Amino acid sequence: MLNIVLSAMRQNLATEVKALAISCGFDLAGIAAAGPLAEAEHYMDWVGRGMAGRMGYLTDERAEKRRDPRRLLPAARSVVVVGQLYNAPLPYSRTIEDETLGWISRYAWGDDYHDVMKRRLAELDARLQVLAPCETKICVDTAPLLERPLARAAGLGWIGKNTCLINQQRGSWFFLGELLTSLDLAADSPAADRCGSCTRCIDACPTAAIVRTGHDNPTWELDARLCISYLNIELKGAIPETQRAGMGRHVFGCDICQDVCPWNGRAATTGDPPWQPRVMAPPLEQFATMSAVEFQRLFRGSPIARTKYQGFLRNVAVAMGNAGAARYREPLEKLCGHDDPVIASHAAWALGRIESESTCA
Ligand code: SF4
Ligand code: SF4
Repeated sequence: MLNIVLSAMRQNLATEVKALAISCGFDLAGIAAAGPLAEAEHYMDWVGRGMAGRMGYLTDERAEKRRDPRRLLPAARSVVVVGQLYNAPLPYSRTIEDETLGWISRYAWGDDYHDVMKRRLAELDARLQVLAPCETKICVDTAPLLERPLARAAGLGWIGKNTCLINQQRGSWFFLGELLTSLDLAADSPAADRCGSCTRCIDACPTAAIVRTGHDNPTWELDARLCISYLNIELKGAIPETQRAGMGRHVFGCDICQDVCPWNGRAATTGDPPWQPRVMAPPLEQFATMSAVEFQRLFRGSPIARTKYQGFLRNVAVAMGNAGAARYREPLEKLCGHDDPVIASHAAWALGRIESESTCA
């Protein structure tokens, strides 16, 4: 009898906490138990095979911490996992054919989600303390947690072959965040995998970055070193020449494997102000003449600040080369004289690409 009462209390409290999360502005909320994650074995293996490239924050001593959320909060009994929809009601990048425009991943159109999510999780934490005082820790992206496996365990969705979390009703355009808590809350059930025999994301990836693992769980994984989002955001300095042509006109991130996913065909959209675009499809010629001060002014508080000025102009130069239009000769010639050697060398590569295309034509 006592067990039944305790179980009902855990369930009621979990329901109240999830309702609180939704009232704080999150679109999805679920509960996972705080304990060892089976997916950690594959993660450590993935890291060990060098798939994370130069992303030291994924591979250093913090990698081990991802095995169990209690390594971040020893008292944790549960993880409240929240999803924040960022899908502004605007076209997918692949539909923008105008060669004068670059592509920016839709998660980066608006404000930096780390700040917004942390603010909303802090509000959830404050309201939770009124409901049931407890130890907590707020995590968003940068904390060493396996966020997607936790979201899966909390019933928010399944991890697709494109490695994104997919919610059956609303698609995959979600940021994830977590509130670790010492409260013992009833956990949700994991969502079923609904990728089935679909391979659209694998077929559409321009750089063949979604690769077979050689086993069943999971069957597919991301070789981050091949992924455009890694090349144009995470990789600092020079991009290997052999990989530049595959980057197309992406100047920050890449959405293709989500754009083509059938579960995003009718994905939910949001009018939430932080995710509405400051810049959605940058005019390449105009951005090629941007100064460092203008870059900082435009992208302060935006995820794009992560590339810094050098990385952004490097990406703009590569995109202009891949657009292959004669109109970019002049701006690229100017960039070839840029003080920054990385920007100048990528502009020279892009110019060479346009010249060789016009010679071949
Ligand atoms: S983000 Fe782009 S490059 Fe990376 S896996 Fe998806 S489609 Fe491929
Ligand atoms: S495109 Fe198909 S295989 Fe890829 S994540 Fe979506 S449903 Fe899964």
